[in-house]
Amino acid sequence: MEKCSGHSKNDYVCSTIHFKMDKEVILQIFSGGFAETPATYESIMEKLEPVVSRIRVSKVFMGMSVDRDLYARIRDYLFKNNIEFYLWLPVFAELDALRAGRPLIDFHGKDKSDYELSEREDFTFYCPNHPLNLLNVLFIFEEHFDAIGFTGVFLDKIRYASFANGLNNVLTCFCPFCQMKYNAIGFDAQVLEPSIEMLLQKKTPFGTLEYDQGRYLFDDDRWTNFFYLKNKYITEALKGLFLYFREKKYKISLDVFAPFVSEFVGQDVPELSNYVDSIKPMMYRMTNAPAGLPFELEALIQETTSKESQRQAFYNILGFNPQKQPFDLDFAVRDLFDLVHQSKAPIYPGVEFNRTRIAPVTPAYIEETIKAYAQTGIKGFVMSWNLLNAPQENIDKVIKLFS
Ligand SMILES: [Zn+2]
Repeated sequence: MEKCSGHSKNDYVCSTIHFKMDKEVILQIFSGGFAETPATYESIMEKLEPVVSRIRVSKVFMGMSVDRDLYARIRDYLFKNNIEFYLWLPVFAELDALRAGRPLIDFHGKDKSDYELSEREDFTFYCPNHPLNLLNVLFIFEEHFDAIGFTGVFLDKIRYASFANGLNNVLTCFCPFCQMKYNAIGFDAQVLEPSIEMLLQKKTPFGTLEYDQGRYLFDDDRWTNFFYLKNKYITEALKGLFLYFREKKYKISLDVFAPFVSEFVGQDVPELSNYVDSIKPMMYRMTNAPAGLPFELEALIQETTSKESQRQAFYNILGFNPQKQPFDLDFAVRDLFDLVHQSKAPIYPGVEFNRTRIAPVTPAYIEETIKAYAQTGIKGFVMSWNLLNAPQENIDKVIKLFS
């Protein structure tokens, strides 16, 4: 990449003059959920082969159907073309079809099944401290996937529930295993109770005063400590998984939230980056569903504020411009840039190229987003989250940008 002198980190406009793509391309393929009929080999190859024959693809992340033969055939094709093959594997959600997970328990002792299901709650999240939940991942992996010969694992849902699942699901977990951990270090969860009641009266969500490089400064230490522990527990649980996959010689990649939401869901991405081969922050500016930037920001604000002034104050803290459509590109670039420079592992932001009702992605959006993100020091892109739903014009745009 040619360097521009005299530009700040946010000034990606110069890329239109000097743009020359030198980034890796990773393709993400959703082959069906654990309980669903998997996509066919033919339907995958129909989309995959034209891309692989035109541009250099370094890796494919594929999951989560349970169809050994399908994976084996795709593996053979990819390895023949010198492309790494990663299993897309959820960790703290979505495993119920194969093994029942132990859910997060909220402050009042309720689990997810006590809540009325709404459109916004699409996953039950499991407690990272419950030993059975980690064991489930290992059992599932050994039973269905270990023999296939993947290059690596692409770990998804490595977090607590987000605001997309409602505030009560963020204020977790208070199961007996978590209580034991809190007690062991002298953290009294009861101190949170008055703070929860005061939440909507704060000037900003959770009384945030500042946001800098993926970290919030809270006006109340109770929240600082609570979120610190959530980050610590996810990291501890994952370190066990990393060790397991390392011993089996698998490479490890992580699917993570954008920095501005990661602290709230227990993802200390700079810390996690010490243990893995690559990281994919989901920088989806067009996706109006969980993990999508506009969706998660809106859920965070709606769940934690009641007044317009609180919303505006939070935008100011973030340096976010709500007038820009789709989701403020300058803000996304800054957030990504900061993560790239904190991470020990190479960063490959996820950019949508599928088109669905909740993500009306166009070629112009792909070009604008990729050219801007390319200026942040990333190693490449994960074209997300499903090649099989990408319309031809979006695929053509990706091929053009990377050839
Ligand atoms: Zn728990």
